[in-house]
Amino acid sequence: MRFTEDRVPGLLERAFDRLLLRSARVAAVHRVSDRFRLIDLEGDALQGAAWAAGHKLQVKVAGPFTARTFTPIVFDAVRGHVRLLGYAHGAGPGSDWLRRVQAGDACQVFGPHRSLALGDLAGPVVLHGDETPFGLAAAVAAAMGARAQPRCVLTGRAQSIQQARQALKGRGVPASCIVAKAYWAPGKTGMD
Ligand SMILES: Cc1cc2nc3c(=O)[nH]c(=O)nc-3n(C[C@H](O)[C@H](O)[C@H](O)COP(=O)(O)OP(=O)(O)OC[C@H]3O[C@@H](n4cnc5c(N)ncnc54)[C@H](O)[C@@H]3O)c2cc1C
Repeated sequence: MRFTEDRVPGLLERAFDRLLLRSARVAAVHRVSDRFRLIDLEGDALQGAAWAAGHKLQVKVAGPFTARTFTPIVFDAVRGHVRLLGYAHGAGPGSDWLRRVQAGDACQVFGPHRSLALGDLAGPVVLHGDETPFGLAAAVAAAMGARAQPRCVLTGRAQSIQQARQALKGRGVPASCIVAKAYWAPGKTGMD
């Protein structure tokens, strides 16, 4: 199995990884476009995890202790299979990992953990965001039922979320219909 780095992890890093991370392997990488990668992870350690649409998964993208956060489109805890859609925006350990990752690579993940409080996800849902929540959109679409009142899910760039929230408020959308989670902000690294 290929590791995405040539570096040998130290004792402390190995102990941390063993205790807290799930080991998986990259089953497939599909280059959707120049910047988007659809990535399938699989492994016995992914089995039995509790997951719902909107939960986050942190992937160790470089070492030591450097993880970046993604939103699984699918998390099959029976089979031990996860699918992510990653957007390589530019320079950063997460973008670098997305560009170099290959089928057969070893991969370690932390989670899944709760992120957006989406409730029962009975639709319709209005999703606001940029390239980063495309995976969330796919997960939400797959989990939706029928519901009378639309829910507004705001994600992506922190400042855009603020503007969208104010615009919705100004149009009388109740706060109880809005859930929000910033996925990135200019000048901040590795948000989770
Ligand atoms: C809960 C959660 C779920 C997420 N789910 C997904 C997902 O499913 N797919 C996905 O692609 N991303 C997702 N993201 C966003 C993703 O984690 C970040 O874009 C990623 O951490 C960037 O890593 P990096 O190492 O390339 O850049 P960083 O080292 O984190 O940042 C370097 C610089 O780039 C800027 N930057 C970071 N992200 C972007 C961006 N998207 N566009 C422009 N500038 C940026 C930062 O502000 C910073 O100035 C999620 C984030 C969170 C918090």
